[in-house]
This record gives sequence, C-alpha cells and structure tokens, in this order.
Amino acid sequence: MNRHAPSRGVTCRNVAKDYGAGAALVHALRGVDLEIAPGELTLLVGPSGCGKTTLISIIAGTLDLTGGDVSVLGHELNQMSKSEKTFFRARNVGFVFQQFNLLPSLTAAENVSVPQVINGRSKAEAVARASEILKAVGLADKTNALPSQLSGGQQQRVAIARALVHEPRLLVCDEPTSAVDAKAGHAIMELIRQVAVQPDRVAVVVTHDPRVFDFADRIVTLEDGRVAGDRRGNAGVAPVASPGPASTQTESSSNEGREHES
Ligand code: ADP
Ligand code: MG
Repeated sequence: MNRHAPSRGVTCRNVAKDYGAGAALVHALRGVDLEIAPGELTLLVGPSGCGKTTLISIIAGTLDLTGGDVSVLGHELNQMSKSEKTFFRARNVGFVFQQFNLLPSLTAAENVSVPQVINGRSKAEAVARASEILKAVGLADKTNALPSQLSGGQQQRVAIARALVHEPRLLVCDEPTSAVDAKAGHAIMELIRQVAVQPDRVAVVVTHDPRVFDFADRIVTLEDGRVAGDRRGNAGVAPVASPGPASTQTESSSNEGREHES
C-alpha cells in the first residue's frame, strides 16, 4: 500500500477559521483534525454556533480557511486557484445550504437543472432529469412552480434535488430536514443515502434533528470550533455502505431492508 496516496475522502488538518478582526474577531474553528471516509454517511452535530456551517463550507470549497489544510477527493484545496476550485465544485460537489438559496425567478425544475447545464447537459435533457428527481422527493406536481409558490419544506426538497442531481462525489447538506415533517425527512435521508453512500462518494450532513441519527454511519460532534466527539451511528449495521451491489441510483429498494433490522 502506498501510504502517501491521497485520501479518497476528506481530510482536515488543523483547520482554523477566523471571522472579523479586532474586537469583532471570532475564532469559529480552532484546529479541526478530521478524516471523513468515502462510502458512508457522516453526521456533523453540535450546539448552535460551534462551527458546523463554517466547516462544511470550507470542505465544499465555498469558504476560504484561515489556517491548516483540507484535501477533498484527493485534491488539496489550498493548492487550487479560484477558477480551479469553481470548476472542481461544479463537477464534484453538491451543497444544500441552510437557507436553500434557490433562484427566485426560476421554476423548481429550472433550479434543479442549473448544475447539469453548468456541466454541459442541454437544457431539455437537464429539465427532464430534474423532473425525475423532483418526483423522487415528492414534488412531481411542483416542477413548474416558482420558489415563492412553495412552502419552506418544499423549497428545501428542491434544494436537495438540485444538490443530488449531478450525482456529486462530495455531498454536504446543512440541516436538510429542518423544515419538513417526519415523513418527508425520512424520504430525504433515504434519497441522500441512496445517491451519496457509495464507495467513491463522501456525504456529510449537518443536523440538529435526532430523527436523522438513525441514518448515520458515523456521528462527529463539534464544540466551540473543535471536534469533541466521534462515534459510530445506527446505520453501521446496514449493508448499504459497503461496496457491492447493494446501492443503486434510481431505485429505493436497496435501502428498504434497513428499516426492518431492529
Ligand atoms: P453553526 O453552523 O454550528 O451554528 P457557524 O459555523 O455558523 O456555526 O458559526 C460559528 C461561529 O462563527 C459563530 O460564533 C458565528 O457567530 C460566527 N460566524 C459565522 N459566520 C460569520 C460571519 N460571516 N461573520 C462573523 N462571524 C460569523
Ligand atoms: Mg449552521
């Protein structure tokens, strides 16, 4: 084994992030060391303000760090230029933002089409694929709705569909079930597992929602800008995370067995 081979997952080494300066200086991250393996769903939990959003934004390449190093899917983020990072993100990263960040003048299907069009699909193909994934999140009848015509939970599901549609190798989600009821939350987590939990993919989900813990292979706790806990989650017993024929990208059958485990 070549021990210098870059990790196929995410590696954070002594990652620090400060916001502001002088009296307004905030040490949001104070030296995070964390290795996130591909092929499993990692949850990031911890009290409000502990640095969860900051950390996943750095991992996703949307926020620059103050100190330390991050490698993502074998690439050192510090060594990429701004345009390389933008290209890398478009190709490989799906990000569900806490505030959804949908484009208000585009329909649900058009919003979901954006990452595909950026990656070179024709608009017609992209909208067709967008309609499929919107159906999978329970929004078959909302493909032509504008974000302003959707509830918070429906907007959240559009944001999730948009993050998953190009089958990114790195998926980061910030509180993806905060605005939906239990049933929709369950469907969202099933979809995230199905698309993201594959041997060459990395999935990190920030959550406060204890209902989501059952879907985790691993639960990392952040406190005051540092890793304060790290344990296996309940999904660890499931075959979903292991390489092999268990996962498919379009059928939900692969996850169903897990429901009847206990
Ligand atoms: P969490 O997602 O765990 O609630 P955040 O990563 O959003 O935490 O924030 C971590 C700390 O950094 C908090 O103290 C927050 O107030 C501060 N912070 C976050 N974003 C900014 C910003 N843009 N400017 C100044 N401080 C910020
Ligand atoms: Mg947050």
